[in-house]
Amino acid sequence: MISLQQVTKCYNTSAGPFLAVTDIDLAIGAGEFVAITGKSGSGKSTLLNMLGGIDRPSSGSVTVGGTAIENMHENRLAAWRGRTIGFVFQFFQLLPTLTAAENVMLPMDFSRTLPAAQRRRRALELLDTVGVMDQRDKLPAALSGGQQQRVAIARALANDPPVILADEPTGNLDSQTGAAIFRLFGELASRGKTVVVVTHEHDLAGLIDRSVELVDGAMVSR
Ligand code: ADP
Ligand code: MG
Repeated sequence: MISLQQVTKCYNTSAGPFLAVTDIDLAIGAGEFVAITGKSGSGKSTLLNMLGGIDRPSSGSVTVGGTAIENMHENRLAAWRGRTIGFVFQFFQLLPTLTAAENVMLPMDFSRTLPAAQRRRRALELLDTVGVMDQRDKLPAALSGGQQQRVAIARALANDPPVILADEPTGNLDSQTGAAIFRLFGELASRGKTVVVVTHEHDLAGLIDRSVELVDGAMVSR
């Protein structure tokens, strides 16, 4: 589903070029649940953002679902992202003035994947899937962190993308809530989604298929 070949990201800083990610070769199959681990600053977010077409590699190629995205024009890339990738972030990034259901409808409005009249019904189904149907008409500020992250996962699923990418999705949650969120990602993977999660958590045994560790931007095989 995802294939990286010789992917490198170099940032130009005032101190000169800085290699954030170097020479990554990685293949992730459909339905795999993969963790990206490593210390702060090791390049995890940079790598994840390149997988999802948020960031472009300086060199190398990124292929997702058979499509090479590294040279795709920005407009096409944004449309492609909306259909192909669901993103989940550490701080949820829900729009504060929209209800839970309205937040889940946003990607459908953007990508026009469903007729407008069917979008709310799908949003409610997704909120039910992630266990927060009863919170549908509340604003994010009225929800707990775990509930907000469940809404964000429902939003990531809105356009039924084959790939879910999450950057430290449990970093702002207590360990019990975080474990429940990880189980939810595991269920998505078992239902065929390709799930890649950046995490510091080390007790994921039994949940993930594989873990990839970064050290100073390089992949360390295990
Ligand atoms: P992680 O997610 O593992 O903490 P990041 O991918 O965010 O690491 O960052 C990897 C390295 O690249 C860090 O040293 C960071 O400071 C640097 N970096 C990230 N984004 C930029 C940028 N836009 N410009 C310059 N350096 C950056
Ligand atoms: Mg990061």
